[in-house]
Amino acid sequence: MKNKIMLIVFCTLLVFSSCSQPDTATDINAQQTPEIATTEIITVAPTDTPVPTPSPTAVPTKPKYIFIIIGDGFGRGAMTLGEIYARLESEDMSKGAAWEDFTVQNYVTAMGESASGGTAISCGVETDPWYIGKNIDGQEMYTIMDRAKDAGYATGVITNSSITDATPATFMSHITNRYGFTRIADCFPESNVDFIAGGGLISVLPEKPGDVFDGVDAMHYAPELVGSEWLLPELMNMGYETYFGLAGSIALRSEMANGTYNPEKSLNLFTGGIMPYEFYRYSSKAGTKYDDVPSLTEMTQAGIQSLSQNENGFVMMIESGLIDKCAHKSNEEMEIYEVKELNNLLLELMDFYNEHPYETMIILTADHETGNYTHDDELLNQWKAKSPFLWADDASEMAAFLTQEWGVTTYSKNLETQINKSNAAEIGTVSDNRAYLYAEVTMYTAGKYGTKIRSSEHSGQLVPLFVIGTGSEIFKDSTHIKEIPANICNIMGWTPLPEVKLPQE
Ligand SMILES: [Zn+2]
Repeated sequence: MKNKIMLIVFCTLLVFSSCSQPDTATDINAQQTPEIATTEIITVAPTDTPVPTPSPTAVPTKPKYIFIIIGDGFGRGAMTLGEIYARLESEDMSKGAAWEDFTVQNYVTAMGESASGGTAISCGVETDPWYIGKNIDGQEMYTIMDRAKDAGYATGVITNSSITDATPATFMSHITNRYGFTRIADCFPESNVDFIAGGGLISVLPEKPGDVFDGVDAMHYAPELVGSEWLLPELMNMGYETYFGLAGSIALRSEMANGTYNPEKSLNLFTGGIMPYEFYRYSSKAGTKYDDVPSLTEMTQAGIQSLSQNENGFVMMIESGLIDKCAHKSNEEMEIYEVKELNNLLLELMDFYNEHPYETMIILTADHETGNYTHDDELLNQWKAKSPFLWADDASEMAAFLTQEWGVTTYSKNLETQINKSNAAEIGTVSDNRAYLYAEVTMYTAGKYGTKIRSSEHSGQLVPLFVIGTGSEIFKDSTHIKEIPANICNIMGWTPLPEVKLPQE
């Protein structure tokens, strides 16, 4: 009974705690003169005697492109799954997951769940569970996206979960109930984020969205739309181009392929709710319907293409949102595919980094850990020193390797069956079959070398704060995820965070 009353009180409070309605909402960014971002140049001090210099060098001290990657629930255990999988895929023990090459590798304190975890990363405060973009007193906080906008940078928020899910919401919305999805979407115009991509059509589009959405999402379902009537017209009025559902996915892919994808502001929402688990892309039963859903990496490529049109640069948050959800199912195998896709994304971003080495900073972190994984870095390092697993056509040969070289014996019979299945190409393409086998081998190897899921809940374990690129040194002594936006402002010379957002007059 008490809980019920609390819930009613909570819902009533909610009405008063969410974003401004469109009639009162003001575009804060339009009212401010964007300061032109400058690149600080290290120059050689003038001397009386000219010193011969081969060529003048200009090394930026702050990045132009900032990527904040959040693995939801991504702790040390999930990382080890990725580190094992990457070595299987490359058949090279020296080629691990992309984050293993990052120059700053800290494990830091996070929060208890995604709303407060995301708010720590977007706004720089420790707040209550379920609070999004608000401090513990319920006051709206400026986000790192607000700061980037004010400085004339483009901004992007991408997720493979619903766009109104807690983590992406913390970069655009201000509300005390993370489950108030339509109210979260109602905050998008005020946030003015330029590139928005992910799932979650249902809370953004109104029941009758008109000809921008033909009713079929990229998973070939017909989602029931419950968004506010005024929201879509308002966003389109602001200049957002729309890529919705199956037709939107096809359009985005074709425009990306022929180089014509160039909206400056866009809403790219492909599925009714969360996007499909990566696991299903490799499942024999899934058919082709999941093939029409853009991956996290594809959405990020589109985001880079769109936001690169801003000459100042951009700040982009990309959430790998389903790692947490797999751990809630206690499904290590499904989680491996999500971590594999996160690593694919980081490899893609490392290509971008190598093209713009002095202008890029990539931050990899998490809002909290899920699964309370065991992990044993000493054992894992012993495994990393072993011989690589090589693909062979002979299942018993591969099983023998796993048993003799890696000591993965307990499940060798199961493995042999999997290897035979994979070799028979039962699942689809050769790489699909290999992915399927590598996931199995990763799971067994992880168990053998100390990585095992222990619960289906969030834990208080430390999370990665791994950083590479210009400005990354500032993170060397970080101990908490809330330092991320403060450090970015520090490097960029932006007004410090956290800061309470005073109500607009
Ligand atoms: Zn969770």
